[in-house]
Amino acid sequence: MAGVLIVGAGQAGASAAIALRQRGFTGPVTLVGAEPDPPYERPPLSKEYLAGEKAADRLLLRPPAFWEDRGVTLRTGVTIGAIDVRNRRATATSGEDFGYDRLIWAAGGQARRLACPGGPLAHVIRTRADVDALRAALADAPRIVIVGGGYIGLEAAAVLAKLGHAVTVVEALPRLLARVAGPEVSDWYLALHRSHGVDVRLGTGVVAIEGDERPAAVRLDGGERLAADLVIAGIGLVPEVEALRAAGADCPNGVRVDSRCRTSLPGISAIGDCALHPNPFAGGAEVRLESVQNASDMAKCAAAEILGGDGAPPYRALPWFWSNQYDAKLQTVGLSAGADARVVRGDPASGSWSLVYLRAGAVIALDCINAPRDYMGGRGLVERSVSVPPERLADPSVPLKALGEAA
Ligand SMILES: Cc1cc2nc3c(=O)[nH]c(=O)nc-3n(C[C@H](O)[C@H](O)[C@H](O)COP(=O)(O)OP(=O)(O)OC[C@H]3O[C@@H](n4cnc5c(N)ncnc54)[C@H](O)[C@@H]3O)c2cc1C
Repeated sequence: MAGVLIVGAGQAGASAAIALRQRGFTGPVTLVGAEPDPPYERPPLSKEYLAGEKAADRLLLRPPAFWEDRGVTLRTGVTIGAIDVRNRRATATSGEDFGYDRLIWAAGGQARRLACPGGPLAHVIRTRADVDALRAALADAPRIVIVGGGYIGLEAAAVLAKLGHAVTVVEALPRLLARVAGPEVSDWYLALHRSHGVDVRLGTGVVAIEGDERPAAVRLDGGERLAADLVIAGIGLVPEVEALRAAGADCPNGVRVDSRCRTSLPGISAIGDCALHPNPFAGGAEVRLESVQNASDMAKCAAAEILGGDGAPPYRALPWFWSNQYDAKLQTVGLSAGADARVVRGDPASGSWSLVYLRAGAVIALDCINAPRDYMGGRGLVERSVSVPPERLADPSVPLKALGEAA
């Protein structure tokens, strides 16, 4: 028996190997990853690891001996380049060949690079090696420009500003976090970063990075030139699905999977950042989520499907996410895209508040800033799409948990 081959030894791939064993799968499990490291977590890369507060060995998802103990063959530094669907074989770029009965594609993606002249001079933050290279360059870099005002760019801005660098964030859209959060949250983070001395430029694109071996300046589309010793691009992810596309899978934005994480290719599932899936918390629409929650929960779903086929439950995990910037701890639950109303709960000026997102009167998501009780209490409202009058949601003296229980 060739067993299960998992391509990608990141959050999703590692979780799939663990879930298969936890669910009693006794066949061979091979976990193949392109990076040299055993599976590790990425969230600290733009937080404690970048800040130098967490050592590399503390990033590991499990101790190195764990994989062998569980009978999982871990192969690091191996990149799968092609899949022969008919013969159920996957070939590494080194030429090594792996047979499989079932394949789980968990290859995540690569940081998107700036396409403008000088783009390759920018650092990115996706792998431990990226952050090691970035940290090595920091000593010589008083002025840093971060391109992209999403979570990763803003987390890096917070760390680097705290380390004493002069940080500028350049965001092409008119507000920060525009793709993931409501304007009230964007405005709050804008004020937070500015209060820490970060120069935030909104509605401005980067047209070039000037410099030879290292950056000297960033040129903006309005003609302005920002002196920069170091540039970081935090402009999103390109899903890693080329081998699947070449094998005939449908890959419009990542690889399309069904409600049990199966691609259109026989015997091949896909999970995590690379998987475009129908999500009940998006009203059944297809989404590609980049979160630890999604990677871990899709892994469980795919493992259950391998063991139980159509009898396994479809993917229905409550989405959640977090982001730490300075002393602000954001916790989100649900998916806010498609909201038709928002309610501010608590006073943003107090530093502890939440934004509640509604669609057709029902709670679909919350962003909770330094408000763990709202997050805990609000999860049930999102899980069950509870309808609550906006004035009740806006009243922070009424616990969200109580609103859920009353519904
Ligand atoms: C800096 C940073 C901060 C983040 N912060 C948060 C956070 O605060 N909260 C949160 O919920 N999420 C956060 N995330 C997102 C979260 O880390 C990802 O959603 C999660 O890691 C996705 O897991 P994955 O296994 O799908 O992909 P990955 O973790 O990217 O793992 C995929 C692995 O597959 C390997 N691979 C790729 N192609 C091949 C191939 N052809 N053959 C073999 N191996 C291959 C890659 O090298 C990689 O190691 C953050 C991500 C980053 C980068």
